[in-house]
Amino acid sequence: MNNPLLTDDLLPKFGHIRTEHMETAIDQILSENRMKIQALAGQENPTWETLAQPMQALEDKLSNAWSVISHLNGVMNNDDLRKFYKNCLEKLTEYSTEVSQNAALCEAYKKLAGRDDFQTLSEAQRKSIDNILRDFRLGGVDLPEDKKKRYAELSRELAELSNKFSDNVLDATQHWFKHITDVDELSGLPETAIEGAKQAARQKELDGYVITLDFPSFYPVMTYGDNRSLRREVYEAFVTRASDQGPDAATWDNTPVMAEILKRRHALAQLLGFGNYAERSLATKMARSVDEVMEFLNQLAAKSKPQAEREFAELKAFVKDEYGQEDLQAWDVGYYSEKLRQKRYDISPETLRPWFPVDKVVPGLFRVAEKLFGVQIEAHPEVETWHDDAQAYCISRHGEPIAWFYLDLYARQGKRGGAWMADCRVRWRDLRGKLQLPVAFLTCNFTPPVDGKPSLLTHDEVTTLFHEFGHGLHHMLTQVEVMDVSGINGVAWDAVELPSQFLENWCWNPESLALIASHHDTGEPLPEDLLQKLLAAKNFQSGMAMVRQLEFSLFDFRLHAEFSEQAPTNPLDMHRTVREGIAVVQAPDFNRFPNAFSHIFAGGYAAGYYSYKWAEVLAADAFSLFEENGIFDQETGKAFLHHILEKGGSQEPMALFKAFRGREPEVDALLKQTGITDEAA
Ligand SMILES: [Zn+2]
Repeated sequence: MNNPLLTDDLLPKFGHIRTEHMETAIDQILSENRMKIQALAGQENPTWETLAQPMQALEDKLSNAWSVISHLNGVMNNDDLRKFYKNCLEKLTEYSTEVSQNAALCEAYKKLAGRDDFQTLSEAQRKSIDNILRDFRLGGVDLPEDKKKRYAELSRELAELSNKFSDNVLDATQHWFKHITDVDELSGLPETAIEGAKQAARQKELDGYVITLDFPSFYPVMTYGDNRSLRREVYEAFVTRASDQGPDAATWDNTPVMAEILKRRHALAQLLGFGNYAERSLATKMARSVDEVMEFLNQLAAKSKPQAEREFAELKAFVKDEYGQEDLQAWDVGYYSEKLRQKRYDISPETLRPWFPVDKVVPGLFRVAEKLFGVQIEAHPEVETWHDDAQAYCISRHGEPIAWFYLDLYARQGKRGGAWMADCRVRWRDLRGKLQLPVAFLTCNFTPPVDGKPSLLTHDEVTTLFHEFGHGLHHMLTQVEVMDVSGINGVAWDAVELPSQFLENWCWNPESLALIASHHDTGEPLPEDLLQKLLAAKNFQSGMAMVRQLEFSLFDFRLHAEFSEQAPTNPLDMHRTVREGIAVVQAPDFNRFPNAFSHIFAGGYAAGYYSYKWAEVLAADAFSLFEENGIFDQETGKAFLHHILEKGGSQEPMALFKAFRGREPEVDALLKQTGITDEAA
């Protein structure tokens, strides 16, 4: 059978992939891998060439098929695909647990690491072996048989539960909508949002307008909707998704799912000899201990909260003075903040949209990458993709292709919300010397073009695009040839956001903005007064934004660090406790934020959400060198490329950072960049 998921095409034949190929491909790869692993693990005298290298080839084959399947599950979801995906996921989880507990294979790696000539391997090769041995320990390989079985059981259940959590959130998000026939109810909303609401109604074969919980629909209502009761209704639907509250109460309730996840994570951590899951999480991270993370978060909280309180008091005073309204609810904060921003800076995200058409922003982003890192980027419309919205691009240096990526920019039915970068192919060199180029998926959920007009982005959306492209560059510009530590592979979670947050800085500089902003009708550059306002408004309510992120980080970290079997922490209670300490905005009793917090219950951020802030410090501090030397300074760009992007996971992140910056990172770089001071203004 000709299964397009089993060929070794660098660029998958998306036009030929059918759902029925998926399970067959995974079955075949898993059974072949199992056989080959048995042979590899039985070697007397394993070397890099006879063990590590062939193992990478097996891993590569699997990840090349799986990356495509899980990508399609994320961007072209339907019931059929979801079913196959779920089946594959179960088999894959079983397989990885099996491999990670294969004592013979672990022994073989130990022999390889114990060889006299081990030190003659490259740094990347040695780091890869170190990681493998560490992951064997974390996979429970040293456990006695009964505990091993228990470990496998817990892993399988956790994978199922996470998937369940994520399905519940998706179903709850996609099920709810608000049908509106009177356009007056949408008063205050920008034209693009009203058009979007019309389109959403047409898709549902309804007259008038439809508001959904997808970000491009939900967000404008919360930010611009004059209709307070509509804001409240949409807010309630959004913050009660997958819970026991709100319009779909108890239909997709994640409350029991969360409890089961936490219980199993704790049990799993204890099986491995950790006190709790937070300790387990840190075993693979740049941060060294639970105390270090708590101290880091508390330090940022102490330095930001006074400013957040000042900002919130200003907002309350503004609402009272200008609107005579005393009570400020959670569904009012975004709306009035926007009014205050407009009053103070006379600028709104909507004002800027005309200057950020996708067909200017995307080439501008490429220009920035080209100038900074000496690469060329070219579209390849002839390459087949999964949807008309998606397109392939090639990155080359001196005319030689070095990487490929796909860009899929717009929100649509069946596409998971948010923006992300995922790998499709990893850069590495096989035994025969053949180099596989890296390939990346870059996915966003921007408002689709309406009536032939290009999609016009908010500055926030532009920043999101730069962010994901930063991840993409980390994956694609790597020079490492060892699969496990190539690109973003093997990079500690709390360092992995460094390149992405770093690249966002180029959305905030006049020199680079000149490359990405021009009016979609007239082609004129962003007028000087708007540019000045954009820059002045950058740190508007940055204290409030900081404490909000710290709330999520502390909630996640303490939830896992303080869990105990006797008195399991209830996520809702923990969320309330954390909010009492840090939040400045009151949340209504029906708020069920944890129930849709997919990052930590369905993504990889469990006891790791702090990583965003951790990496922000790294990014701000790295960028400060460009501020000193010039944002397009070639030498500094080259140094960042060389010390950070090209190295991937081949060395410890702290060592790479120090090699680039000449010292350890400093928290104050972030506070300075976001304009947070701990003195009263
Ligand atoms: Zn990111």
